[in-house]
Amino acid sequence: MKSASLLLAAWAVAVLSASARSQGLDFGKIEIATEQVAPNLYMLSGSAGLDPAHEDAAGGRIGVLAGPDGILMVDAQYGELADKVLTAIRRVSSAPIRFLVNTHIHRDHTGGNAKFAKLGATIFAREELREGMGRARTVNGNPAPAADPAAIPVVTYGLGEPVRIHLNGEIADLIPVRAAHTGGDTMIRFENANAIMIGDYYRNFGYPFIDIANGGSLKGMLEALDVTMKVARPDTRLIPGHGTIVKRTELAPYRDMIFAIQGKVQQLVAQGKTLQDVLAARVTSPYDSTVPGGLLPAAGGGTSADRFITEVYQELKGGDK
Ligand SMILES: [Zn+2]
Repeated sequence: MKSASLLLAAWAVAVLSASARSQGLDFGKIEIATEQVAPNLYMLSGSAGLDPAHEDAAGGRIGVLAGPDGILMVDAQYGELADKVLTAIRRVSSAPIRFLVNTHIHRDHTGGNAKFAKLGATIFAREELREGMGRARTVNGNPAPAADPAAIPVVTYGLGEPVRIHLNGEIADLIPVRAAHTGGDTMIRFENANAIMIGDYYRNFGYPFIDIANGGSLKGMLEALDVTMKVARPDTRLIPGHGTIVKRTELAPYRDMIFAIQGKVQQLVAQGKTLQDVLAARVTSPYDSTVPGGLLPAAGGGTSADRFITEVYQELKGGDK
């Protein structure tokens, strides 16, 4: 039995690495760059041009709050980059890594969880994220191995139950938002640094991504953007999981764009149009020149614009049931 399960594990790893290869990811080439955004707050990002799903910077952005009390990390990148991430962290601090918060479940944000948990970090995340990790998953239609138990969050919280962490003279608020990019999104506000890490429910590279299979929703995304505009001050830096750092004023036009595209798709749905008709109508065209990466391929096939329109269509059709 033991050797059978080892074989199964080896096969599953082969399936997973094959899928990474088919996505064109060469982890060996990716470097981790560090940007200091406040006296004790750093952002870590992967190299540009090497991750087809995120041409602007490979994987998801990591936040590191460092100081004598220890380190709080926000997100953990692809697991394959965990050693490089650790090296980058050690360049800014030798303190123990005590806490890791996940903005959401995607593997470019949680892949390194197990590595950092084994180094002593306690993982915080939404209950929905923990449940999602426990669910059976598939990779290219094949069953994927269950997550390493060490990767699974230990401290969980639900919507309406924000968590506050006091560390290094900073106050980090883990603020859950309604199902938006996924069903278990959290924004992390650093009160003194006046910065909020907002995960992927806002992005300025490619069109919005509502991961319906992982519990995301269009309604929730609009609501999360509204909440963020309320929580942020005019000069607060909003740090997305991908793309450039923005201020609150950038969220309103983004929200308006989602709202306008939703309206156009709604009209077509009301006329009985099929998904193919809606995609052919190119309802994002007024925005294509102002959304970098909007017409590039997105994970799951098609362009980022097509993926977004498909999600909006599915949610609006689902609403008729
Ligand atoms: Zn994501």
